[in-house]
Amino acid sequence: MVENLRVKDATAYSTFKRIYRFDSGLGSQIIPDSFKAKTLNYFGQRDSSGNIIESAEEAVARIEHQKIINITNQWTGESTLFNSLRADRPGIKGKDLKKEKEHIYKLIAESEKGCDFCQPEKYTPEDVFGRIRGEHSITAANLAKYDVWSSLVIFNNHNPLKFTLEELSDYIDTSFAWFEDVNNHSPQFEFPFFVWNCLSRAGASQIHGHCQILMSKEPYARVKNLMKTYQKYKKEYSADYFQDLYLVHRSLGLSANHGDVCFFASITPIKEKEVIIISPKNPSKDIKAKETIFRVLRCFIDTLGVFSFNLSISIPSYYKEDGFPYIIRIVDRGSLLKSTADMGGMELYGSSVVADDPYKIINALKSVF
Ligand SMILES: [Zn+2]
Repeated sequence: MVENLRVKDATAYSTFKRIYRFDSGLGSQIIPDSFKAKTLNYFGQRDSSGNIIESAEEAVARIEHQKIINITNQWTGESTLFNSLRADRPGIKGKDLKKEKEHIYKLIAESEKGCDFCQPEKYTPEDVFGRIRGEHSITAANLAKYDVWSSLVIFNNHNPLKFTLEELSDYIDTSFAWFEDVNNHSPQFEFPFFVWNCLSRAGASQIHGHCQILMSKEPYARVKNLMKTYQKYKKEYSADYFQDLYLVHRSLGLSANHGDVCFFASITPIKEKEVIIISPKNPSKDIKAKETIFRVLRCFIDTLGVFSFNLSISIPSYYKEDGFPYIIRIVDRGSLLKSTADMGGMELYGSSVVADDPYKIINALKSVF
């Protein structure tokens, strides 16, 4: 449990203190008698058939005193409040996975009729230098661009949740081939950025599988923040910020690795289940990086029941070799059956409020590595 974080190793502990600030506290309240039955109904622990398995007194005792964990990364300013109780709040029961799967597969099947992305050469624009054709994907210009260079990798598969390692590798390779072409065409655009918004909750307007690919003159704001952090940390401590981040998570039992590609369930996730993969090599040239991304994503979809997610790849400049790694971040955007957004004012203007425990995520991931 994240509330019992223990850094055993002394070196890792001093690194933890250098990067993070940890605080915890109890939020208390009084439930009136008239509200106890409803509280049990909303938050009572249930068995797999949905029957409540605790008394109203037990449920009320848990609700009346809630443990809150507050973790802040002092370098990046990322900050997360954990309260596992929120996973059980009304509207998020998390037990209707089968219902959600059926809903999504119906949605995907129905959207195939008249789908523009199923015929990309006919119904999407192309870049001024043409299209890049992979084995399992093709590029298209973005009809409504995010930025000057803003295009798409459209998968041959309509269903975004159905992909093999070979197919995912092709999406990555096609993206990196496009980055090369843009850089050749306009050499002042040196910072590639890759984003996969999977399904509507993650911001996708089309169900058909596709990724966003961008090239910019300056890194995007949050990537720039990471690059600055990396430089500042190196200057102050003569150490690699991302390696230290990994070492802290390793010491907490929240990481794993696949060759020299390492990953961890972040203790300051931006939202539910955020996993960060750090690859020293370009993923399009490294099978271990591709395998890691593939296994993490498949575990999210097949084991953790995540169907809508954001995946980003922050990529170093084409021109500066300063050791900044390839950073892949994946986050769950919640159930498609819910009408409420997963992010509210707290996430936009305050700190992230998260229910899922990072230990639950890493344990699921470790079983596929
Ligand atoms: Zn389609």
